[in-house]
Amino acid sequence: MYLSKLFLPILKENPAEAKIKSHQLMLRVGMIKQSSSGIYSWLPLGLRIMKKIENIVREEQNNIGAQELLMPTIQSADIWKESGRYDDYGEEMLRIKDRQNREMLYGPTNEELITEIFRASIKSYKSLPQSLYHIQWKFRDELRPRFGVMRCREFLMKDAYTFDLSDEDAVKSYNKMYFAYLKTFKRMGLTAIPMAADTGPIGGNLSHEFVILAETGESKIYADKRIFEIDTRNFNLDDSSLEKMRNEFETYYAVTDDKFNKEDFDKKVLQENRLITKGIEVGHIFYFGDKYSKPLNASVDLQGGKKISVKMGSYGIGVSRLVAAIIEAKFNNNIMKWPLSVSPYEVAIIPMISKNDNSNLIKSQKIYKELIKHNIDVLLDDTDENISAKIKKFNLIGIPYQIIIGQKSEGNIFEFKEIDKESQNLSIDKVVQKLTKEKSLI
Ligand code: ATP
Ligand code: MG
Repeated sequence: MYLSKLFLPILKENPAEAKIKSHQLMLRVGMIKQSSSGIYSWLPLGLRIMKKIENIVREEQNNIGAQELLMPTIQSADIWKESGRYDDYGEEMLRIKDRQNREMLYGPTNEELITEIFRASIKSYKSLPQSLYHIQWKFRDELRPRFGVMRCREFLMKDAYTFDLSDEDAVKSYNKMYFAYLKTFKRMGLTAIPMAADTGPIGGNLSHEFVILAETGESKIYADKRIFEIDTRNFNLDDSSLEKMRNEFETYYAVTDDKFNKEDFDKKVLQENRLITKGIEVGHIFYFGDKYSKPLNASVDLQGGKKISVKMGSYGIGVSRLVAAIIEAKFNNNIMKWPLSVSPYEVAIIPMISKNDNSNLIKSQKIYKELIKHNIDVLLDDTDENISAKIKKFNLIGIPYQIIIGQKSEGNIFEFKEIDKESQNLSIDKVVQKLTKEKSLI
């Protein structure tokens, strides 16, 4: 993409209404635009990032055998009355009436709808286990939408649902998701720690919030620091390895607000290992047994003819929230650095161009073609702004690699710079090699 063609409405100053850096930056570089309170349009740059995040989430769900489907955003109130949550959900639920006066709603989550799909289709124990997910917009009429897409009203969520025959099998499904979550966030350059959490209105008995550390986070966390040292590469998808993984994480104290108990914390965590800080919840997983399958009659026939309610879990990831969460984690000293895996473009070509000499632009265009040929996502700044204004702009956009075509470039050697590091002089072949290798590790 050429910058002159890109729809990128950059603002000169940080917008005053934004209180945290992710919100400021997202408005400043034109990633999003508010359309009404807590409701945003995603502009091209922001959407590219969100799509890359969405894709990583999808790949890791597929890797554990979850199957993608797509449920609608608008649901009938009937199933929510069956589960008993229609009244309980309260004012966060956006309720709508259609022209026939039927009660509908914009889905805040999908436990009811997926259970209805399941019960209409699956009758025998032989079809279990099942694991289904979708990536779809949700609406929650939050009391105080704030911090841009971090806590908004309409947001993109991945939600998965598992169906098993027994508690034992269900815990295996839960562990697989737990594993997939650790991998998903790692691929985005984040260390998300599973914290024991309350199950809240979803109900049930087992739950973890995946939290990344950030001063601006809304969740207060209490943890044993050593939990950050666990190397998740030691585990694989075998049931026994997954159990080991859970056990290893659970040897360390790590809880959010609602589960915090000072006595426990003081007893279990040595002073020097205590970490009390704030974090952003990027995912939340629950096991709740037959809480929905029972009232909604989602049962299967066992071998002898007996029926049992299936055991369910649900698993959310805030896909749109992650865009902001990554900024909170990676924005440092006025420089944004997107992890390569989610960066809107992988490399920026920044030529010095003057009105009467376009030789650098011509060089840039050659390099551009070469990079595209090797499947590298590239943005070329073909504008005639001066070089320092260009660099300032790119430090905000946050593309992790820059090729600067100016005084230091000679023949086939160019100034190559990782956004927050010193530059080096490299040939274009070396740049291609380096980026291709790094991409293969994502
Ligand atoms: P929170 O405590 O932040 O309100 P929640 O417990 O209500 O979250 P879940 O119902 O578990 O959230 O939803 C799954 C994920 O969806 C959350 O982990 C979060 O990343 C994201 N999410 C939830 N509410 C919002 C929101 N208002 N705006 C953006 N993302 C959200
Ligand atoms: Mg909530």
